[in-house]
Amino acid sequence: MIQSRCVLCGVEGENFSSFKPSGNFTSYNYLCSGNSLCQNCNEVFTDQHYRRSSWVRSTGETVFCTAKDMLKILLSPPDPPFMLYIARSGKKQTYLQLLRKGSNLSKTAFWIADEDLGLIRIVTQQISELTIFAREAYEKLGQQKWKLYNGAPVHDWKNQEICERIERLKHDPLWQLVVRLI
Ligand SMILES: [Zn+2]
Repeated sequence: MIQSRCVLCGVEGENFSSFKPSGNFTSYNYLCSGNSLCQNCNEVFTDQHYRRSSWVRSTGETVFCTAKDMLKILLSPPDPPFMLYIARSGKKQTYLQLLRKGSNLSKTAFWIADEDLGLIRIVTQQISELTIFAREAYEKLGQQKWKLYNGAPVHDWKNQEICERIERLKHDPLWQLVVRLI
């Protein structure tokens, strides 16, 4: 038997499927060398649900969900090994980076991929603190998310502590993710 190498996760094995990207495949930067796909990657690559939806995959079983469900799942992830992806427009194949990275083995610190933000390291303790703060800031600043993304305008600086903390956080991808999901 000839050993093949999976072009997405890099694992070596036998009886792999051949890798045949369609004409509009553009994510060549996520690939390893080779021209085949292991069974696991073949399923994720060929089933379009993985591009269009958010999902959690653990030991061969996948649950598709909405981005709205994701905050709850991030705060309380499934038992490892697992992978987790947050889709946005469903156009890009950012999740292919997850296959390269491999499954997470910890529930308290792990990697996810967000379609727009790319790979993000999650520490559950940190995301739980940011969630509490983001909800508080959202209420105090008149329920306008753009202030949480970009920083608050001058007239909001009566809430100085909140505004200062947002200034420190606003370029952090983890913060941007939390603001999207609250
Ligand atoms: Zn693979």
